[in-house]
Amino acid sequence: MTMRDFLRAVLLACVTAAMPALATAVDEIPAGKLPADAIPQHYALRFTVDPRTDRFSGETDIRVKLTRPADHVFLHAEHLDIGKASVSAANGASEDAKTIAHADVGVLEVRFAHQLPAGTIDLAFQYTAPFNAQLEGLYKVKVGEDAYAITQMEPVSARFAFPGFDEPRFKVPFDITLTVPVDQVAVANTLQKSETKSADGKWKMLTFATTKPLPTYLVAFAVGPWDVVDAPPVPANGVRRNPLPLRGLAPRGQGKRLAWVLGETPAVIKFYEDYTAQPYPFDKLDLLGAPDFSAGAMENAGLIVYRDALLLLDEHSPADRYRAVFNVNAHEIAHQWYGDLVTVPWWDDIWLNEAYATWAQRMATIALKPDYFGDLEALEARLATMKNDSLLTARKVRQPINGRGDIETAFDGITYQKGASVLAMFETWVGTDTFRKGMREYLASHKFGSGNSDDLIVSLTKASGKGEVFAKSMKSFLDQPGIPLVHSEVACNDGHASLTLRQSRYLPFGVLGEGEPRWGAPVCTRFGHGKESDTECFLLDRPRQTFDVEGGCPDWYLPNAQARGYYRFDMAGADLARLGDAVAQLQAPEQVVYADALSSAFHRGDLGPAAILDAMPALAASDVPQVATALFSPFEWIREELTDDRTRPVLDAYASSLYAPRLDKLGYRRRDGDATTTIALRARLAEFLALTVRDTHVRAELAGQGNAALGLDGGGKPDLSRADPDLLRTALKIAVQDGGAKAFDAAQQAFLVNRDTAQRYALLAALGATRDPALAERARNYGLDPVVQVGELYNIYGAQMDEPENRAAMWQWVQAHYAAYRARMPAFRQGYMPKEFADGRCSTQEADELSAFFAPRIKELIGGDRGLGQTLETIRQCASLRGHVGDRALAGWVEEREAHGAGSKAGGR
Ligand SMILES: [Zn+2]
Repeated sequence: MTMRDFLRAVLLACVTAAMPALATAVDEIPAGKLPADAIPQHYALRFTVDPRTDRFSGETDIRVKLTRPADHVFLHAEHLDIGKASVSAANGASEDAKTIAHADVGVLEVRFAHQLPAGTIDLAFQYTAPFNAQLEGLYKVKVGEDAYAITQMEPVSARFAFPGFDEPRFKVPFDITLTVPVDQVAVANTLQKSETKSADGKWKMLTFATTKPLPTYLVAFAVGPWDVVDAPPVPANGVRRNPLPLRGLAPRGQGKRLAWVLGETPAVIKFYEDYTAQPYPFDKLDLLGAPDFSAGAMENAGLIVYRDALLLLDEHSPADRYRAVFNVNAHEIAHQWYGDLVTVPWWDDIWLNEAYATWAQRMATIALKPDYFGDLEALEARLATMKNDSLLTARKVRQPINGRGDIETAFDGITYQKGASVLAMFETWVGTDTFRKGMREYLASHKFGSGNSDDLIVSLTKASGKGEVFAKSMKSFLDQPGIPLVHSEVACNDGHASLTLRQSRYLPFGVLGEGEPRWGAPVCTRFGHGKESDTECFLLDRPRQTFDVEGGCPDWYLPNAQARGYYRFDMAGADLARLGDAVAQLQAPEQVVYADALSSAFHRGDLGPAAILDAMPALAASDVPQVATALFSPFEWIREELTDDRTRPVLDAYASSLYAPRLDKLGYRRRDGDATTTIALRARLAEFLALTVRDTHVRAELAGQGNAALGLDGGGKPDLSRADPDLLRTALKIAVQDGGAKAFDAAQQAFLVNRDTAQRYALLAALGATRDPALAERARNYGLDPVVQVGELYNIYGAQMDEPENRAAMWQWVQAHYAAYRARMPAFRQGYMPKEFADGRCSTQEADELSAFFAPRIKELIGGDRGLGQTLETIRQCASLRGHVGDRALAGWVEEREAHGAGSKAGGR
């Protein structure tokens, strides 16, 4: 659907609603929001599901309130074969209704035999449908001989499973009934009420308690040979009167791997109950690990579904997987309040759901798992999103929605990470207690209903006591794209200091923005005096402001204290140098934003590569992984774009000299008592040294582990536990890169029999990472084989694109296999396709080549327009910067190093 068609449909719908009565013309199909004259009140959903077959059947009854007389209603249905539809008016008489599917927009038109008066009607549908093949709606996954049926409705896939008003503003109760083979386990959003067997004893009919009011996208159920693990109920507390039933579900044979997450869950629930002062809103909680899943996890009310790699753990799981499971679980549980209890009315406010859950999860992680460095993970996620927010084509947090492409692409870093960062920044400004007061008020006044951005801002503004300036400042980050660049300068006169701040939009070199956007940014600044420091916050909401600084002239200052501000800063040169000298005095997150200030100045063309390279040693020595590796990203850019065969070995040797001794000291295996930071640092350094810098010594250490894991060291069968769990992924890649066909075959065989999803990802990534042209082609083709699941195939292609040697062949392959590849893409992944194959492109010619292929196909990729536009802009930015920096800047640095006798020795291939 084009944008213009969408607008036309909305306009017509509005006009229609304003008319006094009577029918709409047949051609006014609501491609956007449904008209407001038919409002669902209740659903009864009955499904008959046997996952071992190819289709399911359903019966859907919907009670609907007509706000005016009508001879038809519009709702949503897609790929449903409707056998019978009927309508009953208030007097009870049932009549057949005619259905017309408008397949291009997923709309079902139900026409009545004659006009019905305003009031309550009951719609009834009988239908069958295929299980979805792209992990949407009600879909099916085969695991060996077992088959599972699972739902994923968000954002607009409920229409693949049942006819309904598939928009988040309609929150109503659902009654769900599942008829399944007697040997299958079936679960839904609520507690099971009853079970009856069919006369022939082959089927059982399960009914479930009526749900709380829910939008269609939070309806969920699953059928299959699940392992069910009962955990002790979550005890009652001061907020919740009754114990809460808690269970885990895993694919057959995997139930014991649920123990860790089930043990962690009660504390997370209690944390949110304390914070929100609202009890967990539903009658039970099931955590279900799906053997294939499109996203990470989904917050269905009372039945959270996870990609099983993000739920199931054992003693062989890497440490970062434990953190990921904790964090994702805390994110989804947060949604039970933020998203499920209070829901956004339309997708332009989806940031509320996702930013809340992201922000709340961090709060929970920092409180419950202090050694998981939740603050630093948040910061890294924010900095990654800032790359996207530096584009002129960046979305706004609160972005208008013009059709399905906008809905599917709304689930991006801007929505999650920028949204969460904005919440955290304003929380820091007003204080934790004040912010919590506003959050509680918002939840209490909208519970079991809907709330939008303005509702939240009203609650927070009221709590803040700051009046309109609070609302205006917060909105300035939601309603315009981009990152503020705060230019700062301290002036000192007779011991009296003042801080002058200016603002503009942060844009990389060569990019010219339009207009002069203004933000209201709380700029909290740390001022250092000798060994002491103190923090003051200033609201920068004009183009340029000067503030008095308490405490006299500082020795140094950092205009983003605690790194909580969603902005970048640019300091006067002398100020930046003094900050660099004081970097050891900063907190770890502050050291990371200091590194970002260097990196962003480099990308603006204000600093050369030498400034980045020379700043690396001071950070490399840190024990905090995010600090030690904070300049990896600009280093990799310099290495990729500015080096040649002569300079690259010098750069690699430099990196090895900084990091290889550190890794040797940490060792290549986890040791008893290792801190989580140590484990994470070991994994990051190993990957960087072995795969980016290609340090021969590090590669040899890891190849040994990879070969042992694959059984290539004479050990016989593959046994992945023979490698360090945290280094396994890197070790397998090296074993395959260095081991030729024998290692490739061994990894492929190991994949076929492995049922641990995280290990399967590592094995697929190893296949993709081969640099042998023939094996690389095999790996690419393997991604189209049904034995590789939809949710795991990216591991192959992502690893392939990481190796510069493979990119040209990969591009040829994509063009030749485009249709087959695209057919496996879930809706929300399609928009990312141009980006997935853009690594390494840094010239306008390479941008044009990508565009020439995708542009004619872009309409068939959901969200493709945005994905292609952003990818092309990224490539062109890269090209401008490369042209600006030129080759000489790096050559000069290299010559100087060689002159001091520090030429190449380690590194290289
Ligand atoms: Zn979420």
